[in-house]
Amino acid sequence: MIAAHPDDAEFQCGGTLAKWARLGAAVHHLVLTDGSKGTWDRTADVAALVARRRDEQVLAAGILGGGSVEFLDQTDGELCADIPTRDRVCEVIRRIQPDVVLGHDPWKRYRLHPDHAAAGRLCVEGIVAARDPWFAPDQLRDGLTPHRPRALLLFEPDAADHAETFEESDLTLKIEALLAHRSQWVTTHLARSGPGTAVDPLERFREREVELAVGAGRWAGASLAEAYHLIDDEL
Ligand SMILES: [Zn+2]
Repeated sequence: MIAAHPDDAEFQCGGTLAKWARLGAAVHHLVLTDGSKGTWDRTADVAALVARRRDEQVLAAGILGGGSVEFLDQTDGELCADIPTRDRVCEVIRRIQPDVVLGHDPWKRYRLHPDHAAAGRLCVEGIVAARDPWFAPDQLRDGLTPHRPRALLLFEPDAADHAETFEESDLTLKIEALLAHRSQWVTTHLARSGPGTAVDPLERFREREVELAVGAGRWAGASLAEAYHLIDDEL
């Protein structure tokens, strides 16, 4: 899983990761930025925020069933799909050798956040680089080998054509993992909770996550799901 920020994975593919971990998959989280803009507090200690968000990401990954967590530590809000960063993503793919990669859809229209678009490009182009020995050849001299994943699942897709269905227990873990990002309750979680029946904003947040999973499940002909665009024929 390749995400721009701590918490992106939990929002977009937390149910899928919980299910896969439950079924025995090894999960690796690669978070590209340091999350240093994740507050509205203009007096915040940024170094402390970055450290806290790393801890929250590790905690959330553990709730989803474990797996390794790695940070590329690019500056939040300034992620660039440039060659040096792409080579670093390529290095991780060659080292981890994933069967399936999940990442942001770089072709999603009307998206505003620059990091999500850049993270999508880095994911797609990092896969291309990882499989081709003439991209970042120094890595191969260091003992890594080219790698071609079987499938790429783009989350928050511009055009959904694939669903991963999951159980209620997976959704429970997804919401628990989201809430592990305690530093983001004000700026993200509660800001997204919107209108609902519950009085408590956290309960409204939970309701919204359930509604999203139920909505994607309805589209997929199942009870709960997350939607993706699947690429598995051009890898
Ligand atoms: Zn994000």
